[in-house]
Amino acid sequence: MKYYSLHRQSPEVSFETAVVNGLAPDKGLYFPDNIQPLSVDFVRQLKSHSQAEIAFEVVKQFVGGEIPETILKQIAAETVDFDFPLVKITESVYSLELYHGPTMAFKDVGARFMARCLGYFNREKKEQKVTVLVATSGDTGGAVANGFLGVEGVEVIILYPSGKVSEIQEKQLTTLGQNITALEVAGTFDDCQDMVKRAFMDETLKSLTLTSANSINVARWLPQMFYYFFAVRQLEDLNKPIVFSVPSGNFGNICAGIVASKLGLPIAHFVASTNVNDIVPNYLISGEYEPKASKPTISNAMDVGNPSNFVRIQQLFDNNFDQLKKHFSAYSFTDTQTREAMNTLHKNHNYISDPHGAVGYLGLKKYTQSQADTTGIFLETAHPVKFLDEVEKTLNLQIPIPAQIAAVMDKPKTSIRISNYADLKRVLLGG
Ligand SMILES: *Cc1c(COP(=O)(O)O)cnc(C)c1O
Repeated sequence: MKYYSLHRQSPEVSFETAVVNGLAPDKGLYFPDNIQPLSVDFVRQLKSHSQAEIAFEVVKQFVGGEIPETILKQIAAETVDFDFPLVKITESVYSLELYHGPTMAFKDVGARFMARCLGYFNREKKEQKVTVLVATSGDTGGAVANGFLGVEGVEVIILYPSGKVSEIQEKQLTTLGQNITALEVAGTFDDCQDMVKRAFMDETLKSLTLTSANSINVARWLPQMFYYFFAVRQLEDLNKPIVFSVPSGNFGNICAGIVASKLGLPIAHFVASTNVNDIVPNYLISGEYEPKASKPTISNAMDVGNPSNFVRIQQLFDNNFDQLKKHFSAYSFTDTQTREAMNTLHKNHNYISDPHGAVGYLGLKKYTQSQADTTGIFLETAHPVKFLDEVEKTLNLQIPIPAQIAAVMDKPKTSIRISNYADLKRVLLGG
C-alpha cells in the first residue's frame, strides 16, 4: 500500500514512512492510495472469525507486507485483546461499548496498534530514538501513554490543556513515568494541537525524529475500522439497514468507519454527532467549511474547532458534496440536551452513558426519526467513570470505580507546566 499526501505536493510513501513521519512534508494528511474491498464471503461470515482474525484481515492491505504476517497477526491480536460488547438498548438501538480496554477509552485500540508498529519499525535503531508528540483533549493522552509505556526506542511527550481534562484523565497521563512526559499547557486543546503542528514544521527541530500519535497518524486512525466489523459481527438480524452514529471531535473514528464500508461492510448511513463545536454540521447545511475556536463542553474529548480528519472524509466521497450528504449526516447538541439524553437512557432504558455516548445517542435518534426500520448503533467511546463528576451529578447516583482506574488515582501527578511554543521547544531540545 502506498500513501499519498492530501495536499498532493509530496511523493507517495510506504506505510512505514507514513507511520514514522505522521504528516507529509507538504503538511498534508496521508491517505491510502487504493482501497480494495474484502471478499464478500469474509464479510458475510464475520461470526465464524475471532476478533484477532478480523483485525488482521481488515488491516492487512494497509500495512502492505511491510510487517511480516506472523508479527502483524500478533500485533492485531494484542491490539484487540479485550471485549467490544454491543448492548441492546431497544429493539432497534444498540450501544457499542468501546471502553473495555486498559484505559477505558476507545483510543486504546489505535494507540496499541500504533505503538506496536512503531516498535517494530524501530527495532534496529534503538540508539536513534523516536519522539512521539501528541496533543490530547482528554482520552488520547492516557491511551497513548499506556499503549507506548515501556516501548524501547520511543519517547512520548503529551500536551494537555490545564484544567480542561477530568481528574481521572489527568492521572492516567501524568502518573506513568518511564518514557512518558506530560506537559500541562496554559491554554485550550486547540493551542496544544497548534503547538504540535508547529513543532512538526519547525526546521530547527530536524535533528529529532518526531512523530504524531493523533488520529492524523495512519496507524492510529485505521485500526478504528475494527469496531464497525466487531459491531456487525454481533448483530443477530442483518436485514435492516445499519446506521452508525459516532460522537465526533477530530472525526478520525467516523472516518475509519467509512473506510470499513469501503471494504464491503454493509453500512447504510453514518451520523456524525457533535457537541456545540458544530463546524461539520454547519458545513453540511451551508457548504462552507469554517473552523472556529473550540468551545468547552461536558463532552470535552470532542471540543475541537478544526477537525483534522474531515479532509479524509471528503476524499472518501471524492470531494463530492452530494455524495457525502447521501451517506453522511451531522448534528450538533448542547450540554443541556446531552444531560437530558443521559437521563432518558438511564430512566427509560436502565443504561448509564457518558456524555460522549449520549451525544451519539442523540444523533442516532435525530436521524432515525425520519428513517424507520433501521438498526441503529451509537458508539459509546468512554466509560462513564472517565467523566465521573458529570455523570454522578446528572444521574444523581454513584459509580463504582473500576480497578484499573483506582490503581492510578493514588499515584502522584508529575507534569511540566508550559505556556507557549518556546517552552515546548525547550523541553524537546533540552529534555
Ligand atoms: C477522542 C474522543 C472522541 C472523538 O473521536 P474523534 O475520532 O476525534 O472524532 C469521542 N469520545 C471520546 C470519549 C474521545 O476520547
